[in-house]
Amino acid sequence: MKLILLGPPAAGKGTQAEGIAERYSLAHISTGDMLRAEIALKTPLGLEAKALIDEGNLVPDDIINRMVAGRIQREDCANGFLLDGYPRTLAQAEVLSELADIDAVIDIEIPGEIIIRRVASRRVCPACGHTESVQPGEEEICEKCGAALIQRADDTEEKMRHRLEVYHESTEPLIRYYTERGLIAPVDGAMTIAEVAEQIFGILDAKKEAEENE
Ligand code: AMP
Repeated sequence: MKLILLGPPAAGKGTQAEGIAERYSLAHISTGDMLRAEIALKTPLGLEAKALIDEGNLVPDDIINRMVAGRIQREDCANGFLLDGYPRTLAQAEVLSELADIDAVIDIEIPGEIIIRRVASRRVCPACGHTESVQPGEEEICEKCGAALIQRADDTEEKMRHRLEVYHESTEPLIRYYTERGLIAPVDGAMTIAEVAEQIFGILDAKKEAEENE
């Protein structure tokens, strides 16, 4: 399966992607994680992308498209892949349509007010990339690898409001684009992590079964 996870920032795409990739043996491709790895390594691409990312703006399409084109050629994508955070613009979707035949687009729907509330407690692990939510007073340690969690520079309320504007302007039109192509599968992202996962697995299990019976 070749899948796209669509939805506003902090909708839970990364968290759900971990579960989906494991269940269906897919490569999890997060363009945000790839860019953060470039920043950590201080590569020319990372240095160029850092200011844009920290301000909540998009990295230019040609850079992202090249990065993804190279990534999906790798061996771990042979059984399929899950794109998390890509495409984010119509121009990226057009390029992707030349690179791969997408089977489904899971669209995680969630109101902006819930996202703004969620972002205050969102932390990421700089060592393994895992994202989790912390309660006030709770020790901020990664539940996966034990490293100290950090708050992303673009996860402040102000930056998130800007990222939501960028999402509405540049990324939301993709819902219509993929609806027209019969690929969109909406899920309610305001539920618990397990409930959202259940909705997604229901959609993908049915899709797999239908394909196997073809
Ligand atoms: P994410 O981790 O998916 O929230 O991505 C973090 C940031 O990386 C975004 O706010 C953008 O600045 C940049 N980024 C990630 N994916 C893309 C993309 N497909 N196109 C442009 N910029 C991206």
